[in-house]
Amino acid sequence: MTSDTVWDLTQQPNRLVVLGGGTIGCELGQAFTRLGSTVTVVEALDRLLSNEDPDAARLVTDELTRDGATVLTGTPVTAVEGTDSVLGGGQRIAADRVLVALGRRPDTRDLGLETVGVDTDERGFVTVDEHLHTTNPRIWAAGDVRGTRSSPTSPGCTAPLPRPTRCSASAGPRRSPRCGG
Ligand SMILES: Cc1cc2nc3c(=O)[nH]c(=O)nc-3n(C[C@H](O)[C@H](O)[C@H](O)COP(=O)(O)OP(=O)(O)OC[C@H]3O[C@@H](n4cnc5c(N)ncnc54)[C@H](O)[C@@H]3O)c2cc1C
Repeated sequence: MTSDTVWDLTQQPNRLVVLGGGTIGCELGQAFTRLGSTVTVVEALDRLLSNEDPDAARLVTDELTRDGATVLTGTPVTAVEGTDSVLGGGQRIAADRVLVALGRRPDTRDLGLETVGVDTDERGFVTVDEHLHTTNPRIWAAGDVRGTRSSPTSPGCTAPLPRPTRCSASAGPRRSPRCGG
């Protein structure tokens, strides 16, 4: 199952393995735990929510554990065979269902972005700077398609959401067309 198909379940799984401890894995892992499933969340990195603040990740880990989920970090999954998950050390976890909450990537491959000078990274995320400019100065990218990877103008930094544009009531007719309401 993925976060697209999980909603079609008509029976609650007794044992659920969630592959990936990102936001979606944690959110759905917690929901199924609280519904009464025996949940194991498996994360390859050494903590859950690696894109978030470590303190927030610790809180979520503690809460999941308190709810009764098993959280395995630093544990890459090497294969899924049927509904068994095979872990790095060869250990297997049997489950009734496996929820794959990892590996999503944008479907930008066949859009011809290279023909207009819009760069993507090796996973297909559109490269943007801190103002969401792509590498074509006339094209911007927003939303999940830009990922949170390094910006070309700020190596090592992630591209944050832009600060909201201030709308001033006295700005007159020349105020930014991006200001709504
Ligand atoms: C299970 C789940 C729970 C989530 N919960 C939260 C939450 O609580 N809070 C939160 O902030 N975020 C949450 N998110 C994340 C949030 O849904 C995304 O960050 C958000 O939807 C991104 O918006 P988007 O417009 O970039 O992409 P999308 O919402 O994916 O929209 C992209 C659209 O473009 C269309 N499209 C794709 N390719 C093409 C093409 N070639 N031509 C034309 N159209 C195309 C797609 O069909 C889609 O309609 C959740 C995501 C999931 C999966």
